[in-house]
Amino acid sequence: MMFMTPHILKNLFQKSATRMYPLEQREPFERARGELAITVEDCIFCGACARKCPSQCITVDKKTATWTLDPMACICCGICVTACPKNCLQQELVYRRPCTEREQISRQGEIRRRPRKVKPADEEKKAA
Ligand code: SF4
Ligand code: SF4
Repeated sequence: MMFMTPHILKNLFQKSATRMYPLEQREPFERARGELAITVEDCIFCGACARKCPSQCITVDKKTATWTLDPMACICCGICVTACPKNCLQQELVYRRPCTEREQISRQGEIRRRPRKVKPADEEKKAA
């Protein structure tokens, strides 16, 4: 007991080594790979992010223009951000919030159809 007393006294009066989370939160590091976010207006639903994701946590449905992420499976590697041809994925400087239920993040975009090419034969038919 005599051996431990100085350590006990030191621990009682020195500054705590841990933070009072969530009251006191640490600022993320400058180049931290935080939570994944999408600017769905720029997404063309090509599915490159879903194909490259090592955790298979992205689902892209081109027919319904829906992009879905399972945030609890995401390991924040950033491969999808690099793979996206439209630069519409970003990793924000915020860490994933604690949660009690597993939920999916789903974003709905616009279904874009390519304008149909008009063949010269069609134009002739219209003119006739
Ligand atoms: S950051 Fe990595 S794990 Fe998360 S969705 Fe993108 S590719 Fe998948
Ligand atoms: S790679 Fe980019 S553009 Fe393609 S589906 Fe994913 S987020 Fe959308």
